[in-house]
Amino acid sequence: SLSDRLTATFKNLRGKGRLTEADIDGTAREIRRALLDADVAVPVVREFIARVKARSLGSEVSEALNPGQQVVKIVNEELVGILGGQTRELQFAKHPPTIIMLAGLQGAGKTTLAGKLAYRLKNQGHTPMLVACDLQRPNAVNQLQVGGGRAGVPVYAPHPGVSSEAETPTGDPVQVARAGVAEAREKLHDVVIIDTAGRLGVDTELMQQAADIKSAVGAHEVLFVIDAMIGQDAVTTAQSFNEGVDFTGVVLSKLDGDARGGAALSVASVTGKPVMYASTGEGLKDFEVFHPDRMARRILDMGDVLSLIEQAEASWDKAEAAKMAQKFADQEDFTLEDFLAQMQQLKKMGSMKKMLGMMPGAQGMRQQLEQFDESSIGRVEAIIYSMTPHERVAPKIMNGSRRARIAKGSGVHVSEVNQLLERFAQAQKMMKKMAGGGMPQMPGGGAM
Ligand code: GDP
Ligand code: MG
Repeated sequence: SLSDRLTATFKNLRGKGRLTEADIDGTAREIRRALLDADVAVPVVREFIARVKARSLGSEVSEALNPGQQVVKIVNEELVGILGGQTRELQFAKHPPTIIMLAGLQGAGKTTLAGKLAYRLKNQGHTPMLVACDLQRPNAVNQLQVGGGRAGVPVYAPHPGVSSEAETPTGDPVQVARAGVAEAREKLHDVVIIDTAGRLGVDTELMQQAADIKSAVGAHEVLFVIDAMIGQDAVTTAQSFNEGVDFTGVVLSKLDGDARGGAALSVASVTGKPVMYASTGEGLKDFEVFHPDRMARRILDMGDVLSLIEQAEASWDKAEAAKMAQKFADQEDFTLEDFLAQMQQLKKMGSMKKMLGMMPGAQGMRQQLEQFDESSIGRVEAIIYSMTPHERVAPKIMNGSRRARIAKGSGVHVSEVNQLLERFAQAQKMMKKMAGGGMPQMPGGGAM
């Protein structure tokens, strides 16, 4: 498997300086294959790999991960970023009704989604109404009525009498949309969901119709529904709809199938629009908020490699945290150099909260940590580096002229040197206390 190959490629090669082109190339090849297997569009893959390479090259090799793992980690972060990072939910209009329009090719899953979305919104306390604007296909109106019936949501349709499957409703979809919204307004529905027609391929007439509906009703959200199985065609389809109707968000449908979801990356990458929901079946409840991180995992199909990476990082953090806790406990002669080292270590750890979670009894330090300002570490470094080695281990000798010299050398005001020394003295006291039991306070805690 891909995971095995990756793991085999980079055994025990960690913490050896910076990532080299050779480190990256091997992994990049595997990633490219994984993306193509997931049906990410070729030009998107090409651009993506170039970005990952640029970002990886010269980045420092983590002590927790081997180079291959580290490139995978970067890839994962980039994927999540392109997929929108955070999940985005619908934005409701200040003055209801919020008008949501669905667009996409025929068979993409629009009408099915209309029912699901209405059902979800209704359960959230909204009062949605569906509007049937697909007057193209026989039975399209009826299909929406069935979905609305299941969801317990009213459906506005052009010809209430239309029920025969053979009969194709006639009328102007733009007028139906307008009338539907007017009715929703009158009946105080707070959300309107407009189902529209699709064709098998992108065509200008269809796109014009969608654009006309959008502007006629002033849709707040236009959701572009795309079949996850569409594969390489995702890019051109998404581009056309983006240009044609300038949609606000993407819904990926049929994710219950075999598709690894490469379409999500293709669409997000070429349009820059967020994927908001995933449709995962034909039932009303087969519908979820889209999670970029889960999708990245699915696209990469490297769940085990990613888990390994998380484990490696967590255990490394744990070992470091243990070392540090030991150092706290061993502290007898706590000097400014120790003070600096501890803060630098904190900075290196990056995720301080995570680390503290691993230190037994450290919960009380949380609050101080939250105030901990990483940017102040740079100033602390400057001040301590401006001290002589002797001053660092024997801060008691620090008189006025020494303080003035240090302030000048580090480009800060004397008061900042005084503050630092005060904080150091406090930390020293705490170290002593802690050596006799109890938990330490954070030496660098508080903003400078
Ligand atoms: P529309 O032409 O865009 O309105 O697409 P439809 O909503 O009519 O869906 C086309 C077909 O796909 C129907 O048979 C649906 O039951 C099916 N479908 C829609 N969404 C999903 C989904 O998320 N998963 C699966 N398995 N089938 C779906
Ligand atoms: Mg439909």
